[in-house]
Amino acid sequence: MCRADKQSTTGTDIPVVSRADDAGPCKAVGSAQGPPAESDIAPNQSVGVAPARGPLRLLRIPSLLLVAVIAVILLCRCDDIKMRVKSGTPPPTPGASVVRVLLTSPAAREVEVSTTGAYWLKVDGKVVAQSVSSMPAVTVRYRGGTWQIGSRVVRGREALLLPASDSMVYLGGRCYRGSLRLLADKGDSFLAINHVEMESYLAGVLPKELYANWAPATYEALAVAARTFATYHCSTTGKRHQYDLGDNQASQCYGGYSAETPKSRAAVEATRGVVLSHGPRGQERIFLAQYSACCGGRVNGAYVIRNANRIEPLEGGQVCNDCRACSRYRWPAVRVSKSDILRALAARYASARKLTRIDRIKVISAAPHGRAVWVDVVGNGESVRVRAEDIRLSLIYAGIPAARGLNSMNCRMVDLGDSIEFADGRGFGHGVGLCQWGAQGKALKGWTAEQILLFYYPGATLYRVN
Ligand SMILES: [Zn+2]
Repeated sequence: MCRADKQSTTGTDIPVVSRADDAGPCKAVGSAQGPPAESDIAPNQSVGVAPARGPLRLLRIPSLLLVAVIAVILLCRCDDIKMRVKSGTPPPTPGASVVRVLLTSPAAREVEVSTTGAYWLKVDGKVVAQSVSSMPAVTVRYRGGTWQIGSRVVRGREALLLPASDSMVYLGGRCYRGSLRLLADKGDSFLAINHVEMESYLAGVLPKELYANWAPATYEALAVAARTFATYHCSTTGKRHQYDLGDNQASQCYGGYSAETPKSRAAVEATRGVVLSHGPRGQERIFLAQYSACCGGRVNGAYVIRNANRIEPLEGGQVCNDCRACSRYRWPAVRVSKSDILRALAARYASARKLTRIDRIKVISAAPHGRAVWVDVVGNGESVRVRAEDIRLSLIYAGIPAARGLNSMNCRMVDLGDSIEFADGRGFGHGVGLCQWGAQGKALKGWTAEQILLFYYPGATLYRVN
């Protein structure tokens, strides 16, 4: 479950593309190796930004001089936009106006689709069916290079179900805005990818990430963080892939239109287009604004989960006691056998296969607050260096039952001979960036979304993407 129980993922390497119909190789989500370094996409260059305004007053204006400077910059930018419009070309394309969300992981072999109203069905760009009425539920299969869509059989690689603007598409029992792209994968399997406008996408993310009764300020803060997270992927790794994000904990949980609530729509609208950025004035860049369920009392730096330039908003170290209401703020010790740890690591990392046993786990580096960052797993005269977080992720992916209670690596590893005890456990997830439970605790104390964001991402600037 995603809702405020976001498991840690290094979140990264999640593929994206800025256009719906681009083609390219697919890539799995949730790599433990982390994403590339901070985005090279300057929000005021590639995605077009303007200072955030509106009901939240998310951008603080420190001085009249700054106002004047920004005004000049904006005037120049507005001129550019006007020129483009006057010339008949579209306005600057936002970096992430359309998000491509993978809905099938692993790839599907059969799905059921339908629409709520008028639609077009294309295969390899050619219209093969259209109707002013809704499409009844039909089964889709892909066999030997041919799509079987209900009774219709069409040869091709890519099917696009494009509802009219007042219509939506169903995949299984879940309804989505935007279009549904079905893309042949390996063998007779295929991917289902929802192409959806960014703000609508976010309205389907927030209810899957937060509890329904949580405060509007929590929703608004996460809307900005999630928009930044998605924009980052759309602007970086997604450029090389067929989809930008998955729909689960490996990226951001997303439930489409079916998940939307009035509260999620309101939070998205109140923060429309606002993203986090960092850097010298005029050179700000969107960064990977990760977040997790509960930091356990201290925010972690991004370096605990991935390689990246260390920047102030993701340096961590903040004391966060507002997540105490989370049931996993503290959790009981967990014992996992060394053989299970070895099995999990070997399944995930080829380098770990040279180990035939684990003698000890040696902490090589730790965060200032003591949390292990890098460890050496030592056995049979060999040693493998991994992030402490990778031990936890490996155990999760391997489905080791004894590791179910290992909610984070904010803990102490105690060698008990045949097993490792993870003691003094705190928090749930990787603890990097915004702490969802902590944000809610702060919102209950009256903090605004802006205050919450600038606490968890200190030094960040809020921008409104056009
Ligand atoms: Zn916290």
